[in-house]
Amino acid sequence: QLRELDRLRDLPAETLDGHAIHLVANIGTPRDTESAKRYGASGIGLFRTEFLYMDRDDMPGEEEQFRAYVEVVKAFNNQPVTIRTLDIGGDKYLPYLKLPAEANPFLGWRALRLCLDTPELFLPQLRAIWRASAFGKVRVMFPMVSSIDELRAAKQFLVQAREQTIAAGHPIGEIEVGIMVETPAAAILTDILAPEVDFFSIGTNDLTQYTIAVDRTNAQVSHLYESLNPAVLRLIKTVVDLAHHHHKWVAVCGELGGDLLAAPILLGLGVDELSMNPASLLKIKGLLRQLTFTHCQRLANKALACSTADEITNLAKKELRAIK
Ligand code: PEP
Ligand code: MG
Repeated sequence: QLRELDRLRDLPAETLDGHAIHLVANIGTPRDTESAKRYGASGIGLFRTEFLYMDRDDMPGEEEQFRAYVEVVKAFNNQPVTIRTLDIGGDKYLPYLKLPAEANPFLGWRALRLCLDTPELFLPQLRAIWRASAFGKVRVMFPMVSSIDELRAAKQFLVQAREQTIAAGHPIGEIEVGIMVETPAAAILTDILAPEVDFFSIGTNDLTQYTIAVDRTNAQVSHLYESLNPAVLRLIKTVVDLAHHHHKWVAVCGELGGDLLAAPILLGLGVDELSMNPASLLKIKGLLRQLTFTHCQRLANKALACSTADEITNLAKKELRAIK
């Protein structure tokens, strides 16, 4: 079994009929780079930078962040490293930030909203990302976008940070800009947002929470949090179709991307990249290599016609049994 996975690491991530998909890793710290490489990730699809800010008494400065980012970028040579800007608030807390208590933290001052209102937090991170871009292929990704105005404001900060970085005498490279699609608003507005970005990455953890309106941390309602919820699948289809119409590519970086039942459906919907915990990469690659793209497309269409998550789950399970 282990040998088989080892062999898989160097084989291309593609279906039997040659449809390629990018399989990349989610990481939280530079230390995770090693396992991402060991399991054959062809890049980093989600660097959750908030982990650099946690478990400490003060904010990491530009220099410290730069060192963390450049370590990952160098480890991946010219493979893409997608750095998500600070996603704090909601269920993620920083003791030294002293954020006000909120009645609805998941609907409140979190992620990009907090960064746009706090330039002294946002700009050093963006400068650190620009500096890392001189050493490899860097992508930046904004979390919790829900309107074009937020996206434009974030991009203005990115331009400002670029000028500051150049003025400070640091070399910089090119950066691709993308957003996480984790609010229904962003999904529905994909065609409006598309001209402003290079790519989309669907955060299914939050997108599921916000679509079904169910708090992902509340045990009382956790049974309502269904990963293969039909409303979420339809939103994913909307994002992929609208983004492709605008020649922009789409990743999935939520837990759904590393789920054996979901991955064939996501591929069939036309998702271009799956980003997941490193430990899931080879099992997903192994599965996709046994399927054809046309088969996945048929499966996705059947899933879109289902009325409940149970129906979709049963459909996907039947599929999985058939190839095992
Ligand atoms: C998501 O919401 O799907 C996601 C990838 O972000 P996080 O889990 O860090 O909120
Ligand atoms: Mg999220």
